Parts: sequence; structure tokens; C-alpha cells
Amino acid sequence: MEILLDRITIEEKESLLEATPEELQPNLELATLDSNVEFRVRHHRVESEVFLNGMVDFKLKFTCARCLEAYVGEFAVPFSLVIKLVLAEQIADADATEDEFVLHPASESVYKLDRHLRDLVALAVPLKPLCREDCAGLCPQCGTNLNLAGCDCQPADPDSRWDELNKLKKAN
Ligand SMILES: [Zn+2]
Ligand SMILES: [Zn+2]
Repeated sequence: MEILLDRITIEEKESLLEATPEELQPNLELATLDSNVEFRVRHHRVESEVFLNGMVDFKLKFTCARCLEAYVGEFAVPFSLVIKLVLAEQIADADATEDEFVLHPASESVYKLDRHLRDLVALAVPLKPLCREDCAGLCPQCGTNLNLAGCDCQPADPDSRWDELNKLKKAN
């Protein structure tokens, strides 16, 4: 996903930028990108600084950590960035740039947002994806998905509820 810096003026405007999963190739664990990534961005420029500010929308497909069913989560994540246009040689001298502030050669009119969006999408992945907060999970004895049906198993001893979790940890 690219933004054309030479079109950005002091007057604030809005653009809709879009990237497909194939273009973005996010490096995700436990999730896949299930939609295009859309960045509805307001932008303006003051002297050598370009200000971007907006929302990033996308969908991720997960496997629930409790019931192992696939589900899709929708995300809308705010994102802002300041691009400071400098001479190319100033970039080599600069310290490592921070997340919300980057240096970019004034001679190059295109800025690629892919790196920022890949990070943003990866950060949206929860450590333990759940299809819903109160997912009942699988019966540890017969494997029935308890969100869909009951089963006749006797209540398990308290330790066996960790079995599913341990299985998942090994599988990952
Ligand atoms: Zn679930
Ligand atoms: Zn059961």
C-alpha cells in the first residue's frame, strides 16, 4: 500500500487506500487475513512534515483455542503516522526511527505503508483467540463441541480440563 506524498498539501483531505492479503503478506501466527486491508486516512502537510491519521479495517480468521472452530473477527484499528521529509543523507545519520514518526527522502514521492500495516495487523491477533468470550469448548472426554450440544460424560476431575489446552500448546 502506497501513499503519494506529492499530492498532499496543507489542505486536509481524505483517501481510501486498500491492499489485498497477497500484496501485504502479513506474517501471522494462529490467524489468516480474511479481507483486504482498508486504510481510510486523512492527510495534510505542514512544511516538511506529512501527517496521516485514520482507521485501518480488516478481518482475521482464527481457530478458537477452546472449541477449535474457525471464526472471523472484524477489526477497526486507529493508525497515525508523521512522515518527515528530509535529504537522503540525513536518514543515514538518524537514530532508529520510532513507530509514529519516520524519515523519508524528500526526493521520493511514494511512501510504502506495508511495514506499518503488517505490524498493526499482527498486533491485533490475540494470544488466545476465542470464538466468543464464553465459549464452552470441547468436552475433554468425548470431544463434543459443548456450544452446539450437551453430552452425557460425568464431570471430569479438575485437572483434566487442562488436557485440551496442553494438546493445543503441543499442536502449536
Ligand atoms: Zn470457541
Ligand atoms: Zn462428553
